[in-house]
Amino acid sequence: MILQDLHVHTTYCDGKNTPEDLVLAALNRGMKCIGFSGHSYTFFDESYCMSKQNTARYRAEIAALKEKYKGKIKILCGVEQDYYSEEPTVGYDYVIGSVHYIKADGEYIPVDGSAEILKSAVQKHFNGDFYAFAEEYYRTVAALVKKTSIDIIGHFDLITKFNEQYSFFDEKDPRYVNAWQTAADKLIVTDKPFEINTGAISRGYKQSPYPSADIINYIKQKGGGLILNSDSHTAENLCFGFEEYSKFLND
Ligand SMILES: [Zn+2]
Ligand SMILES: [Zn+2]
Repeated sequence: MILQDLHVHTTYCDGKNTPEDLVLAALNRGMKCIGFSGHSYTFFDESYCMSKQNTARYRAEIAALKEKYKGKIKILCGVEQDYYSEEPTVGYDYVIGSVHYIKADGEYIPVDGSAEILKSAVQKHFNGDFYAFAEEYYRTVAALVKKTSIDIIGHFDLITKFNEQYSFFDEKDPRYVNAWQTAADKLIVTDKPFEINTGAISRGYKQSPYPSADIINYIKQKGGGLILNSDSHTAENLCFGFEEYSKFLND
């Protein structure tokens, strides 16, 4: 059983629990390590991320908790850095790099906002062509490591969040497959692990983690690394599905 979770959100961004509540929940579960990963500040959308002021408070509080729970549990202060965030990432224990937006015609379009937002944005900026949208998304993802010095590649195929329910595109279509494979190839050579992220399952959007089984198999075949993360926004979802999905880590 994996007793560590490095993708955890708190009340400093869009999570429901305080860092200390989460540390106590982690101790209750017998976890050995909890890593916090607050959403980095994005000036174009303040609805879900840490404000600049909260970023400083977040870092101070996690530092204090590290001291308070020393010897009981390992606590790490990370950040989930959005591709278009301009905040510095120095001083964090680790950085998860994530693409939550793509930029088209000067606008920042949320990839995981809602199915309606996605559908109308693809209509407006890509003439309704979801594959063109996917190509732009994966072009952005491919540059993640180069753009920000990240340690973990966050939810590689976030673009599939609404696809089980709405079937916006066929994940077996050659245009789609070519787009993700090109991005995966560029990222695998950086030696940064891809997360297997169970967040969309715990929140009821999907029945399988990010990335898809096809992508996980491809990454493994090409020698890429994988790490299990919950992307939890509540204490109950710490290590969500780790028992079941740890099978993806080993052959
Ligand atoms: Zn994310
Ligand atoms: Zn997250």
